[in-house]
Amino acid sequence: MVIVITFLIHWYLTAIVHGLYIHRYRSHRQFYFLRNWDQVFHLFTYMVTGPAYLDPKTYSMTHKKHHRFSDKEGDPHSPIRSKSFLHLLWDTQKNFRQIRLTIVKPQQSLAAQLPSTVISRALWVLLYLLFYYHFATSFWSYLLLPIHLLMLHIQGALINWLGHKYGYKNFDDLNDNSRNTLSVDFLFLGELMQHNHHRSPVKPNNSVKHSECDPLYLILRGLAKLSIIKFRSST
Ligand SMILES: [Zn+2]
Ligand SMILES: [Zn+2]
Repeated sequence: MVIVITFLIHWYLTAIVHGLYIHRYRSHRQFYFLRNWDQVFHLFTYMVTGPAYLDPKTYSMTHKKHHRFSDKEGDPHSPIRSKSFLHLLWDTQKNFRQIRLTIVKPQQSLAAQLPSTVISRALWVLLYLLFYYHFATSFWSYLLLPIHLLMLHIQGALINWLGHKYGYKNFDDLNDNSRNTLSVDFLFLGELMQHNHHRSPVKPNNSVKHSECDPLYLILRGLAKLSIIKFRSST
């Protein structure tokens, strides 16, 4: 039971730091952090993503490529161009590593501010293993461990796979395969309104109709009320 509850908490915390900090803030600058909240959220993102942590600067450059070439040649992760979900996961990693080594350079990355080495990742894995060893009540519980370890990568690949393959469109003027996949969006807190997001990437609210709800936008509004962030444009 402890493992299942921890898994759910970890899933939604990852969805929050991924969608809010790495995607909407680092990649699209839909808002900015006031005072030192940027560093606080960066550290929180590192703690939540653990062994799957990705340098936000490299993520941002990889993601901008996804918007520029959406579902066409050059898109680092498109289900239209990748043969299977695992291929998409692999293609994303390949693109990410290439951009990190050739464009960003490891020493310039934000990850350089935090321990993100083979040793630190191995220590994270060890920590997760110890947690499972202590709390797992059956062998089957260990099946969740690989998802825990790669949570950020798996969520990112699922968003791109589902959000560019299944669902509906609201606009006719977008020349890609992005979709709104509302049936499973409760798992991704608004990030699966890919079609709306591709139409207006700098808009903090991904919903455009009454039937659509963007939970991360509601969280952002709360953070704005608390003077932790400020929106760049009117929503
Ligand atoms: Zn997309
Ligand atoms: Zn985006």
